[in-house]
Amino acid sequence: MAVIPQIIAGNWKMNLTLSQGEEFIDILLSKLSGKEFSRQLLLAPNFTLLAALARRCIGSDIGLAAQNCASQEAGAFTGETSVAMLKDAGAAYVLVGHSERRQIFGERDDLLRLKARVVTSGGLVPIFCVGETLDQRQGGQAFEVISDQLRCGLDEFPGSQLIVAYEPVWAIGTGQTATPEDARTMHAHIRKFLEAQFFWGERVPILYGGSAKPENAAELLAQPEVNGLLVGGAALDPDSFLQIALA
Ligand code: PEP
Repeated sequence: MAVIPQIIAGNWKMNLTLSQGEEFIDILLSKLSGKEFSRQLLLAPNFTLLAALARRCIGSDIGLAAQNCASQEAGAFTGETSVAMLKDAGAAYVLVGHSERRQIFGERDDLLRLKARVVTSGGLVPIFCVGETLDQRQGGQAFEVISDQLRCGLDEFPGSQLIVAYEPVWAIGTGQTATPEDARTMHAHIRKFLEAQFFWGERVPILYGGSAKPENAAELLAQPEVNGLLVGGAALDPDSFLQIALA
């Protein structure tokens, strides 16, 4: 089994203004200063905050991710944001296929496959999100759904730098966390898929997301193949994000 440094990523979604984001970073940096730290921290703010926060994070261990991107490289696509623009603004990662993009904005596997490719060819790392709904889990289809999302979204994936986030839809923003057993078995399933698909599949970090918080972070992070957490609600406050990072 490859040794994969753990990642704690915060997804701010459509929250926090520029001054709130800057204050968050300042608090985080001051509380982290002098602490021994082996986990990598990532934050995914809104596009409008990226450039300013990137300047704030220079010289720190905090990396930035965008929450979405266009599937095209450039051109007449009003309202879209390209990977080159995100890179320019200081993002090193891009969330692709977050369940809110899939469920609310109707993003489908073929579009997400294009996005994963365009992120990679633009020199950034996709954080490819997968997750089953409650109906799918209760219907016994969870493993099949995740395999299908990975197969379709990562078909002929051209890069070798990738992060996968397993985020059961029923656990996102609901306060209902997957049990450590649920997370462990699904992460093992995802690892098997990645190893079969890519010769470098054993090196891909697999994050768990879905109501992760300071109270459950340590137990989730202790599960084999849980290489980190993608955190929504609990990442909006620097103290709770830090508690998760240090769990
Ligand atoms: C998310 O949006 O990626 C997420 C995991 O949200 P929450 O932690 O609030 O469930």
